[in-house]
Amino acid sequence: MATDSTIEIYCPACQWEPDGGAHWQCRCGHVWNTFETGGTCPQCHYRWAVTTCPPRPGGCGVTSPHIDWYHGLEALVEELVEASLPVPASVAAQPV
Ligand SMILES: [Zn+2]
Ligand SMILES: [Zn+2]
Repeated sequence: MATDSTIEIYCPACQWEPDGGAHWQCRCGHVWNTFETGGTCPQCHYRWAVTTCPPRPGGCGVTSPHIDWYHGLEALVEELVEASLPVPASVAAQPV
């Protein structure tokens, strides 16, 4: 059933897959499943750019960029990056 657009979520360091549990605690004290909200705390709305692999349910404890947990996005991300590249500024105009 897998297609090219399938997105998998797992730790980039140890391949641990989030089990749907609330394994992450925000600095405000709220505990939730960060992958349900794309890294944003539902209580204080702080956006976490990094996500730690939780050792308790079987992870490795390594902190990685949140985006690195998503696999299958590479092609899409590359397209977006290429599309947003600034057009090279032309060299200083030559006097005529
Ligand atoms: Zn919070
Ligand atoms: Zn891990």
